[in-house]
Amino acid sequence: MSDCLFCRIAEKKIPARIIYEDDRAVAFEDITPQAPVHTLVIPKKHIATILDVTPDDHGLVGHLFKVAATITKEKGIAEKGFRLVMNTNSDGGQTVFHIHLHILGGRAMHWPPG
Ligand code: AMP
Ligand code: ZN
Repeated sequence: MSDCLFCRIAEKKIPARIIYEDDRAVAFEDITPQAPVHTLVIPKKHIATILDVTPDDHGLVGHLFKVAATITKEKGIAEKGFRLVMNTNSDGGQTVFHIHLHILGGRAMHWPPG
């Protein structure tokens, strides 16, 4: 989608600090980090929210989690722990309507989240 920020990042039309890419997913550093590690994992396919996932996308969504887990190991936060978040719609705090997993780590997370 040409008017989607994260589609444009995946297509390299907008610069981002991309740290991982394969045929289905891209991971890049969040522009406004909320923790020492704050990386976003997105599918290359445009999916607006997790509510829009179809059965055909189930493997893709699983792949996003696998990519995120691998990144936590590479960044050295896997053992201490981290948080994976997918904000959805307005109460969830979603601002970019292309699904993305936030990887947050490098500090202790609070619970419940704000
Ligand atoms: P959410 O609010 O859950 O939709 O998350 C959107 C995230 O995208 C926020 O954490 C933003 O800081 C991040 N973000 C917005 N624009 C960019 C960008 N150009 N490059 C990297 N991250 C971005
Ligand atoms: Zn998109």
